[in-house]
Amino acid sequence: VLIATVCSPISYLPLKFALSGTKPPEQTCESREQRSSYLKHRSPELPPYLLSKLQEYERRHRRCGPLSESFNTTSPLGTHNDSAGGDCKFVVYTPSQGLGNRILGLTSTFLFALLTDRVLLVDFSADMGELFCEPFPNSTWLLPGNFPFRSDFYGGWFRDTYSYGKLLEKKEKTASDSSSSSSPSPSSSSPWNSTLLQIFLDDKYSEYDKLFFKDENQGFLEKIPWLVLISDGYFIPCLFQMQYFRSELDKLFPNKSTVFHQLGNYLLAPSNQAWSLITKFYDAHLAKAEQRIGIQIRVFDPEATPTPLVMKQILSCTETRRILPRSRQSNETSKAVLVASLSSEFYQGIKNRYGGRSGGGEIGVYQASHEETQQSYKSSHNMKAWADIYLLSMSDVLVTSGMSTFGYVAAGIGGVRPWIVTFPDPKDHPDVPGWAAVCERAVNLEPCFHFPPWFAYPDEQGTASGGAGLVNRCEDVPWGLKLV
Ligand code: GDP
Repeated sequence: VLIATVCSPISYLPLKFALSGTKPPEQTCESREQRSSYLKHRSPELPPYLLSKLQEYERRHRRCGPLSESFNTTSPLGTHNDSAGGDCKFVVYTPSQGLGNRILGLTSTFLFALLTDRVLLVDFSADMGELFCEPFPNSTWLLPGNFPFRSDFYGGWFRDTYSYGKLLEKKEKTASDSSSSSSPSPSSSSPWNSTLLQIFLDDKYSEYDKLFFKDENQGFLEKIPWLVLISDGYFIPCLFQMQYFRSELDKLFPNKSTVFHQLGNYLLAPSNQAWSLITKFYDAHLAKAEQRIGIQIRVFDPEATPTPLVMKQILSCTETRRILPRSRQSNETSKAVLVASLSSEFYQGIKNRYGGRSGGGEIGVYQASHEETQQSYKSSHNMKAWADIYLLSMSDVLVTSGMSTFGYVAAGIGGVRPWIVTFPDPKDHPDVPGWAAVCERAVNLEPCFHFPPWFAYPDEQGTASGGAGLVNRCEDVPWGLKLV
């Protein structure tokens, strides 16, 4: 039993919150209606049990979600019994980092909601509110704008007071203090009864936060009606490693290498505005080619991997893997190459190399945007990022940059097993001459979880449910884990 005292200023806030700030759901979602004609062979078939679970989820979302009668009387603030929403429980996703990171965290949180019979709400501020269609019919997933403490979700105070990790830390401290003194402090015997907790799974999460992934802690969390979860990564591999969820996950996903492909496509349909950007570009530049090639170039450290070097390695990848021809053959198929990158230099380099050739199949080289710098707090910037991710996902062949969640999402949504270009540090690879890139095909469509807890590694002690045969080290991030 977790014992802690939370002296909660929360209980002085009004318990009822109206829906101001929540925009009405879009009436039609054009991308949902049209995308199968763009992605002919790729709309994932959902296994029957997953389908029925999603239908059950949709009913729950309608019954409990922000447009329902019960929602307005559901309190995240009082004690459990105050909650007039009956059996409704929620998890609020709070995004962190760039769009790729956010999409992975969001999809993982949705799976957690499915597994724990919760309703997923999202705290999209203005920078993300326009990107997606409402996923759940006749309801909304947007957290009401005036939800209590919304502006505090990212603050240190909120984390200190409400994060599960901090509570575990305090509990441990209290236990060790009381074992060293003869009279335990009065607070250590108070039952902890808040109805809201934060689950902090951001890449800077603490050893205590990581205990979320321990089976023995899930029973306690089950009783908390409101969880506010912050994450920037694909933590699904660690859910699979937990006995607590394992048998249900095995039933939901007979094929573990398409979990993100299935969930991501179900959850994330481009909004009409995004779809218009995507289809205009696709129809104008990519539609006519016999083959579409997506090249996603993400440079994390421009000093270590300057543009000319990255350019050279990308071309070496596309040519040695016969994605683009070294020299022109007359019987080539026509190709449209989409270059996605913050900078226009790579687009120029690839265009210079291939553009303007005639005789044999044509190669058109295109770029939809080049934003130069990451500006994830800006709605128009995220819209372009989402358009680029989606356009990449419509490729027949995909080359992505190692470690980039942007690339993971494009490959996963599109169902295209990418060629991943990585730049191993020469210190670790004396056999590879100076920053030579490695270009390998990903083993499957699954994204990599970059920051698993130590006990998740199959080869370490402490794994309750093991992981060998279930997860592996990622091909691009040696310290990450992915489903296999
Ligand atoms: P990661 O940093 O590569 O893992 O990917 P994220 O998507 O989490 O963060 C990078 C952010 O930089 C994106 O969300 C975009 O805002 C921006 N960005 C990076 N590469 C591109 C690109 O190729 N196209 C566009 N439009 N934006 C990009």
